[in-house]
Amino acid sequence: MSTMTVPEGNLITPEIIETRDRAKPSAQSAALPAGHSVSPDHNLTPQTMCPAFGSLRVLTRIDGVQTAMVTDTGCLYGLTFVTHFYASRKSIAAPAFGTKELVAGNVAEAAIASCVEASKMPGTKLIAAISLCVAETAGLTEEMLPAQINGIDVILVRVPAYAIHSHPEAKDVAINAILKKYAPPRMEVTADGVEKPLTYDGSNEEEEALRRKVIMLGEVFPADPISVDAVLKRLGSGLAATLPSRNLDDYKLARRVGAIAAVHPFYGGSVATLRAAGVPIISGAPVGPEASYNWIKAVAAALKLDPALAEQVAAEERDKCKAIISQFPLRGRIMVCGYEGNELLYARLLVEAGAEVPYISTSIQKSLYTAADEAWLKAHGTREIIYQKTLEQDVRALDVYRPDLVLGTTPLSAEAKQRGIPGMYYTNMLSVRPLFLSAGLAGTIQLIRDALERAPRYEWMREFFVGPRQAQAPAAPINTMD
Ligand code: SF4
Repeated sequence: MSTMTVPEGNLITPEIIETRDRAKPSAQSAALPAGHSVSPDHNLTPQTMCPAFGSLRVLTRIDGVQTAMVTDTGCLYGLTFVTHFYASRKSIAAPAFGTKELVAGNVAEAAIASCVEASKMPGTKLIAAISLCVAETAGLTEEMLPAQINGIDVILVRVPAYAIHSHPEAKDVAINAILKKYAPPRMEVTADGVEKPLTYDGSNEEEEALRRKVIMLGEVFPADPISVDAVLKRLGSGLAATLPSRNLDDYKLARRVGAIAAVHPFYGGSVATLRAAGVPIISGAPVGPEASYNWIKAVAAALKLDPALAEQVAAEERDKCKAIISQFPLRGRIMVCGYEGNELLYARLLVEAGAEVPYISTSIQKSLYTAADEAWLKAHGTREIIYQKTLEQDVRALDVYRPDLVLGTTPLSAEAKQRGIPGMYYTNMLSVRPLFLSAGLAGTIQLIRDALERAPRYEWMREFFVGPRQAQAPAAPINTMD
């Protein structure tokens, strides 16, 4: 049984929390070098922003969507700050919501009042009421919100941190709420009396053209859709849109295209909605030679395109990737520890390019959509994949795997640099570059090679501040696959 001792004054520190598994320091953690900036014996530091930020980020970027944030002033302050830091350039309507209003039970009234304010803002086409921890705890139900206010549609986006555990997954909640509004399944009854989703509205020219196209579901760097579209055009297809999109009309197309390519694994809710609408789903992403080849063929199969042409285009793209790798191979052991939810994709690319990636961690949960990449990575040398990770788990992995490069969160990259290991901030350095197909591969490999080559400089800095390194025992990888 877990036990917790709370001393006088209710001050809880890592030292006084005992859990079943960590009551005593393990042999492994006892051997850790001194000077950690985080306690390695506990898992107290989840690595994700407030989940609601994911929803706010995608919603505030859509033209015509006005957000009404139903929360207390503390969350409002932090989330407004971060949203504007990421250049939302939009006001966020919110109620003055404190203890007094909570105690009075006026949550629905407060939510409706802020939606009314949102409806008055110029150009509003859709109001998104974002319900956060406090409002959800106090009890805000969907039925309490009107479907329209001043003739404008209202959607409820529920993202309390106790139910949605990471900000990538909160993006899915937001996109799914829009899809349910704008791309609901239309049903038809077949001749034998079976009801099934009607994917296409008719057989006019526009519908026929859309049936040959794909919508990519995933927040990607703007150059990626361009290179994907170019390859799809060679197949006689093309990209109809990429979601999340700035354009509300793109969400209305989602039920009408020939297939959805869910390139990130955390859009499970949106995928379920579109699958129920009868739209074929392609999972995985075109990263590295093997995955790019398979992805192009999967798109062609889903759209029933010419298989011989698909084989030719897929093989050409695979060979281009292989040629880049043979000219610029990666050598070294890399840890991939982001919180964006696309870490498994990056790890695949690095492994295909020749790197060793023994440890990967992410903020999202394990799901059906992470299964294929996880299986591939474990078959290619990855020893641990941690979902919903904490900073302490990542720091312990530094000791176990002794990487040559860390692609990590801010505190993990700082910890790596302190130890003389090159560390790069995953979000700022990787998620702002193309990744897909041969074009994405070339840029990513170059970035990683440059970072690996900087290792002597980091070691020099460590020695300058700390002194020469003591002899270390060789790394002893643990075998904890799950
Ligand atoms: S209380 Fe919930 S909504 Fe508010 S900042 Fe914390 S996690 Fe986010």
